Amino acid sequence: MKNDHIPPDWAFEFHGHRCPFMPIGYRMGRLAIEFLKVEREKDHRFFVFPEIGEGHPQTCMVDGVQAATGATYGKVLMEKTFYGKLAAIFYHPDKGAVRYSLTPDFIDTMGKFEFFAYRKKGVEPSRIPTPVAEEVINWVYAQTDDFMFKIEAKPDFKFTPVKGSFNKEKCHICGEYVFERYVRTKDGMPVCIPCSGYKR
Ligand SMILES: [Zn+2]
Ligand SMILES: [Zn+2]
Repeated sequence: MKNDHIPPDWAFEFHGHRCPFMPIGYRMGRLAIEFLKVEREKDHRFFVFPEIGEGHPQTCMVDGVQAATGATYGKVLMEKTFYGKLAAIFYHPDKGAVRYSLTPDFIDTMGKFEFFAYRKKGVEPSRIPTPVAEEVINWVYAQTDDFMFKIEAKPDFKFTPVKGSFNKEKCHICGEYVFERYVRTKDGMPVCIPCSGYKR
């Protein structure tokens, strides 16, 4: 595999432990930006829709995707679909969209590594012996892109991000600022959602 498909040390630091899934996501993200011919996103023009959900393993992938693409949660460039799948759609308004998913063959073969025996016993990745973690990470590095990923161009994919606004108001009850989109009205006064009693 290409060297720049291996996560830099800061990505492991950001992620917090050494597991195979952050590097898999990193590679997926690198491949997607190369496929779409875009740079790592500095601002707000590249979107990722990971198909992971919650309450299942291997979601670590998405930290690698963020590190590789710059499409981060904090920049509101990432929105999970909650399909419970190890896949993601990558989208740039000028370049189109592509979907990457992990192949079942790759997932099954990787699942035989000792790392996952520890995980199934409930051992957290940072507590798994280093050689066991490095073994599976290095094996991942040695696999081909074709074995790991199914790639589908998504010419019809459309996404319209929410229009931004800097406007805000002070909640009449708690006195905190609320951005316009989230201001609610109670007794004719602007309030925040928690003070309003509404759910949303
Ligand atoms: Zn991890
Ligand atoms: Zn309030």
